Amino acid sequence: MSYTKRRIKKGPIIILCMLVLVIILVVIGINLYKKYTSDEYKLSEKGYKEDEINEILKFDEKYITYAINHDYEDDFIPLIKEKYFLWKNYDKYIKYIDDVYGNKKVDYDKVIALVNVGANNEPYTHTKKTNMDKGYAILVNKYNSLPDKYAPEDIVEMSNWYAYPNNRIRKDVYDAFKEMSEGAKEAGYTLIVNSSYRSYEEQKEIYDDYEDSRGKEYADTYAARPDFSEHQTGLSLDIFSPGANMSNFAETETFKWLSENCYKYGFILRYPEGKEDITGYSYEAWHYRYLGKELAKKVYDSGLTYDEYYAYYLDD
Ligand SMILES: [Zn+2]
Repeated sequence: MSYTKRRIKKGPIIILCMLVLVIILVVIGINLYKKYTSDEYKLSEKGYKEDEINEILKFDEKYITYAINHDYEDDFIPLIKEKYFLWKNYDKYIKYIDDVYGNKKVDYDKVIALVNVGANNEPYTHTKKTNMDKGYAILVNKYNSLPDKYAPEDIVEMSNWYAYPNNRIRKDVYDAFKEMSEGAKEAGYTLIVNSSYRSYEEQKEIYDDYEDSRGKEYADTYAARPDFSEHQTGLSLDIFSPGANMSNFAETETFKWLSENCYKYGFILRYPEGKEDITGYSYEAWHYRYLGKELAKKVYDSGLTYDEYYAYYLDD
């Protein structure tokens, strides 16, 4: 029996080895390509740390693209994480932070609120005509005015059952107020309207009187300029309990009931305590704005001032 040695052929093995090598190189190449073209890599090149990159990558494409294409900004992540962050206002947030905070700790929530409503500007600057197509949802404040000498068409007289003499208001607001009055009565409270619709001329007279006697700054603190007053919309009421006044109404049980229940009838407390720099008005426990039941509930539930709510949800 003959025994033949098996000869191992080297050719195929070399080819196999080279093939494996090529595959390894290709895989390495692809991975390197992936790495250097990845968002992670580009963000790290901008100076973002790993945990910051993970934060940014949770947001959608436009945020990531922005961070990749701009210099590192330490306010970027805290800003985009804010609930009411608006992309269109990004540059304004940054400018406001630079102007106001410098190296101090930034209150991002406040920055967002102020810039969204335009209160990063001085009152009555950067004003525009409000969008009247919004109906009962129109926004009127120190940056958004009514059309020149606006007057609603459905103004009605209020009866002495509901208001002190010479009060007028829009029909739907009156109906809503009557319903709210009934609700208050059932709960043991009495509501009385002290001030309601004011025409352009009436508001002008109030403002001019203040201005003539105490100057513009004083006038702007205590009265709205004509065409900038919510009372001129015919959608706002100053409501008290009988005998109460501006200095004590906030301490009454009637106020407590009113502020907690008004949204059920379509009203909101328009100038809340602690939000003066956002609304541009001192705390007014008596000033209520009609929005209709659906919107009033949404605004109440949001905990936002109407200025903030409008800026975030309704402005277009
Ligand atoms: Zn008022």
